[in-house]
Order: sequence, then structure tokens, then C-alpha cells
Amino acid sequence: MSNNDGTPEVSRRAMLRGIGASGAVALAGAVVLGGTGTAQAAQDGWLWCNLCSGLWYGRHDTYGTCPGNSLGHRGVHSGIYTLKYSSDGGGGQDDWRWCRTCEGLWYNGHPSNGVCPAGGAHTPWGSGNYLLSYSPNGGGQDNWRWCLQCEGLWHAGGAGTNRCPAGGGHTYSGSGNYIIPKN
Ligand SMILES: [Zn+2]
Ligand SMILES: [Zn+2]
Ligand SMILES: [Zn+2]
Repeated sequence: MSNNDGTPEVSRRAMLRGIGASGAVALAGAVVLGGTGTAQAAQDGWLWCNLCSGLWYGRHDTYGTCPGNSLGHRGVHSGIYTLKYSSDGGGGQDDWRWCRTCEGLWYNGHPSNGVCPAGGAHTPWGSGNYLLSYSPNGGGQDNWRWCLQCEGLWHAGGAGTNRCPAGGGHTYSGSGNYIIPKN
């Protein structure tokens, strides 16, 4: 949840690390969380949906639930994105989760589980712990943003439609600039 002034609350874990959950704080502070680490099995198969602008996992037998389309997310206009797990190491922000109900990626570091387009809140059950980077080192596509209304990740620079499950469009207010590797 957010404070009235739109500033995302700092998660307990982030506070322990000395960085804020808000992008502004995280960008100003050190984003380095424990060195480069050894690359392990990052997960590809994530897609951008041009109907809601969200990031969703496209390798399951479902298109999930999309706030912009009754038939689920669409991935035909997308490249293939790769997400790191927290265990892969490197800098950034972890506690991002896949929602098994809508297939979307969302931030689990706040008290609220956000708003799921399938109804209710997103669920973290069965998800890995994904790590998103703020740093352009290693390449990738920038302008991915956290939405304080639904807790989801969405691309603010895309040509698609911006639809938030909480109503209207996603917002990037208070978000850092996340960079996602793209094939
Ligand atoms: Zn969608
Ligand atoms: Zn969901
Ligand atoms: Zn949203």
C-alpha cells in the first residue's frame, strides 16, 4: 500500500538493507547488494502484453487474466524477457513474484498483495523470488515500472494499451526505472 502522498512504504527487508522500496531512494542509494555473484538459472519466457502493458509468464498452458482483454494476456508483439532469481545474485531489488492466477509479475515487498485482474489480490504461492535490476550494466530494456495501484510491473515506454486492474492505467509514480533483459 502507499501513503497518501504517493510514496511507497519501505519494506522491512529493504530497510534492513538500507535501501528504500521507492525507486528514487533506491537509485540514490547503493543498488549493490552483494556483488556480482555467479549467474545461475535465470528464467526466460516472460512476455510484454500490448493490451495491458504488463509483464507476464508465457510458458504455461494459459494466457492468464488481463485487465485489458477478456481472453487473457497477449504476447505476439513481445520479445522474450529474462528474469533473474534472487539466488542468482547481483544488485537490484528482490521479492518480485509471479502470480499464478493472472500470470503477471508483481512486487511482494509491501503489506498489500496489490490488485489482481482475476479478482482479489495477487498470490505469491508457488513463485520463485525474482530479482529486478535498476542498472543498465548487462543491457536490457528500461522504463519498466512498478505500479502502486496494483503492485504489478508494466512497461511505460511501449506502444500498447495501458490498463491497470485497479482501474484506469498503471502509474509509474514513485517507481524506479527497472531494466529487464530482452532477447
Ligand atoms: Zn495483459
Ligand atoms: Zn494476479
Ligand atoms: Zn497497475
